[in-house]
Amino acid sequence: MATTGMLSVTEAQRRILDQLRPLPPQTVALDSHTLGLVLAEDIASDVDMPPYDKSMMDGYAVRSEDVTANGAELLIIEEVTAGRMPQHAVGPGQATRIMTGAPMPAGADAVIMVERTRVLVGNRVRMEDAAKPGQNVLPRAKEMRRGEVVLKAGARLRPQEVGLLALVGRVEVSVRPRPRVAILTTGDEIVEPFEQPGPGQIRNSNGPMLFAQTSRAGGAPWMVGIAKDERDNLRGMVAEGLHANVLVLSGGVSAGKLDLVPGVLADLGVRIDFHKVEMKPGKPMLFGIREHGGGRPATLVFGLPGNPVSALVCFELFVRPALRGLMALPPGPCFVQATLSEDYPYRTDRPTYHPAELKATERGWSVRATPWFGSPDLRGVTPANAFVLLPAGDHQHRTGDVLPVLVVENVME
Ligand code: AMP
Ligand code: MG
Repeated sequence: MATTGMLSVTEAQRRILDQLRPLPPQTVALDSHTLGLVLAEDIASDVDMPPYDKSMMDGYAVRSEDVTANGAELLIIEEVTAGRMPQHAVGPGQATRIMTGAPMPAGADAVIMVERTRVLVGNRVRMEDAAKPGQNVLPRAKEMRRGEVVLKAGARLRPQEVGLLALVGRVEVSVRPRPRVAILTTGDEIVEPFEQPGPGQIRNSNGPMLFAQTSRAGGAPWMVGIAKDERDNLRGMVAEGLHANVLVLSGGVSAGKLDLVPGVLADLGVRIDFHKVEMKPGKPMLFGIREHGGGRPATLVFGLPGNPVSALVCFELFVRPALRGLMALPPGPCFVQATLSEDYPYRTDRPTYHPAELKATERGWSVRATPWFGSPDLRGVTPANAFVLLPAGDHQHRTGDVLPVLVVENVME
């Protein structure tokens, strides 16, 4: 059911997530693009790991019963390095020189590290430690058994999972793919970044910014272009953008004379779910869905306000969680409670996401509101790495007060 009133940010986020299903799985090659994706299948190992009883140290493979006390002297019968198989079994009174990672010879059940041994004349070696059975040996299949499931569907592919997939020979895996995100900016006054703006014109900052935000959120961005504030031109470009999993528009969603986006979306079969959110910056924020039928996933449509900081914040609050949901990741957004490090009296009629500098300290999170001239002021956001949420009303906000902060980037970097 469409809503005409103003939703709170949380209600708006809930409405988006309620209607969103992870994208159908796709098989992809195991390469750098798989990092961060979610597995859509269980992965079983095709090998035992380790594939043999393995020495964990450089030293001597021995029969532990031969070395029950310090000072045992043994005869060295061979040397085994990683990648080679031992040729001789270790018999009573014998030892094999062995390197880390090499297979244990038959008969031996322990390794004495080389630092606790002394080589004597006549190929003999003295053990300066007693040996316990199993010492410094990783038994075959201790880490994983052939056929055992080592990663489950739903696991996120971090570097260690990528390594594990390689270990079990999975060069192709089924994953939830990155959503394709079409980015369409609108406005007669908007020119390309490589152009010199004429009177009344400004360069398209939102397009490249939303492209970068999409990449950062894990999506696959695709720039549709700049649409004029003219119905047919806009309609053609929106129709093109509806081929993507997600269409992100900027501008033209308010109630002005040339705000044609809602009408064009409705004409093209987009069901508008909501159109206003109680927040600053960015009240005119539209969300809709275009069903395609035939089992093809619907296109999610986000109409973001044209003012750059509004578009930036609305993307992080609404589009990013949707992209994560489509990839079967926990949607977020991520908030932390932080202590104000400077007084910041502030009056606002709607809950406001104010640019801020967030820091990790020994006493927890600390935050400071950074100077800002409102929703068009993109430059003012560059000293910021987060947005502090200031409540509606006239508030003093003293040093030491605790406030929620929207985290949009890795603040440790
Ligand atoms: P609108 O939502 O279309 O009324 O636009 C609101 C404000 O944002 C206007 O001042 C626009 O010029 C500005 N704006 C709209 N689109 C962009 C864009 N792609 N890049 C930079 N500013 C924009
Ligand atoms: Mg406009």
